[in-house]
Amino acid sequence: MNTFDMLKWLGEKDPVKLEELFREARACAVRHVGTKVYFRGLIEFSNYCAKDCYYCGIRKSNTNVIRFSMEEDEILQCARAAQEMDYGSIVLQSGERQDETHICFVEDILHKIKAATSGKLGITLSLGEQTQETYERWFKAGAHRYLLRIETSSPALYKKLHPADHSFSTRRDCLRTLRKIGYQVGTGVMIGLPFQTHKNLVEDILFFKKEDIDMVGMGPYVPHGDTPLVPADHDPEENLRLGLVMIALTRLILKNVNIAAATALQALDPEGREKGVQAGANIIMPNITPTDYRKFYRLYDNKPCLDENALQCKSCLERRIEAAGAEIGYGEWGDSPHALKKSM
Ligand code: SAH
Ligand code: SF4
Repeated sequence: MNTFDMLKWLGEKDPVKLEELFREARACAVRHVGTKVYFRGLIEFSNYCAKDCYYCGIRKSNTNVIRFSMEEDEILQCARAAQEMDYGSIVLQSGERQDETHICFVEDILHKIKAATSGKLGITLSLGEQTQETYERWFKAGAHRYLLRIETSSPALYKKLHPADHSFSTRRDCLRTLRKIGYQVGTGVMIGLPFQTHKNLVEDILFFKKEDIDMVGMGPYVPHGDTPLVPADHDPEENLRLGLVMIALTRLILKNVNIAAATALQALDPEGREKGVQAGANIIMPNITPTDYRKFYRLYDNKPCLDENALQCKSCLERRIEAAGAEIGYGEWGDSPHALKKSM
């Protein structure tokens, strides 16, 4: 598939033709990463953030947010619950902080989770930009995958979405540093951003390929009412369509990487994540953050599953995944064949 074909698909509105694309992408997923969908239990452990991305609900300038940080014991309890539910891995996510207290806290919790789960639970981090030294400390403490979305591969668009002291090249270099250290590296973008063109989206997929990414986590942009970015012409249906087409195209081009069906898909359509699986995704990140905190970690409006506890989320997802014709890879780390090939 060339750039021209990708652009054509991004503009395709005919549901019958789109179904064909999704079927092809799902078959490609089955061929290259297998029939299984893997769960990563997502723990959103703190909404303190030192950054001010214009699109994000927990940006530091949003004074309407009630800030929280989970205690170490609470995080450990979530990790144990993930293991009991037979999820192979967890993702620890929070706002970005580079202070030593935070770095030590994460380092410590990584050691404790590894000890409490006999090293069996895979740990992915999603804690933003850090120095090489910090990434190394966390790697040594037991994290083996890192998610850092580039947000957009266009430096010009990046500039429009962030304050002047947020840097595209620093973020891109972080991805390279993570790879050098030995992490499996995940990145992704938001889809349907103000000012974003279809050409930008094609370049995003080419960026994933060029940077030799192991996993892709991308999802529709969903506005948050307390941010400066709220667009006048936001079209949720169109963002959902584009989100699914992007999953399918990424699968067809990158083939053997892990691709997540982002929760933001579900904010736009109750069946958004199953549709993501049907379009070629093979990872789902069920939220296992305690319900009391979940409502304070709101990156965008209409965040789904605010009231369900972790077990309810699990059984609801099981039903949904099976209905989508896929199988769940319980108890496995589910590393992408792309990453495993490199480590051999
Ligand atoms: N602070 C870390 C991790 C938490 S934010 C970081 O920024 O990497 C995780 C992701 O949420 C971001 O990468 C961004 O792509 C996504 N996000 C933020 N605001 C969003 C919005 N309004 N709609 C959709 N996704 C959003
Ligand atoms: Fe902070 Fe991440 Fe939100 Fe940016 S996207 S404001 S770094 S939590």
